[in-house]
Amino acid sequence: MKPALCAICGLAAFNEKTGQKGDWIEFADYRESEVIVIGHPEGLVYFCARHVAAARNLRLLPSDQAIVRLRSDL
Ligand SMILES: [Zn+2]
Repeated sequence: MKPALCAICGLAAFNEKTGQKGDWIEFADYRESEVIVIGHPEGLVYFCARHVAAARNLRLLPSDQAIVRLRSDL
């Protein structure tokens, strides 16, 4: 698995001040069967508490397109 760092801002997802946690988002290109083969599944991306809601709204897109769009919205 990749480390739990936000794909947008690169921060560790757990916010010690607020206690908020980020989450893994499964995007349209997520394939659970690849977990065993390559160690980290395609399309499974971590976001911090600040970005996870916006990421969840884009989960019907492939992960690469969603990340590009989220970064452009900063
Ligand atoms: Zn973030």
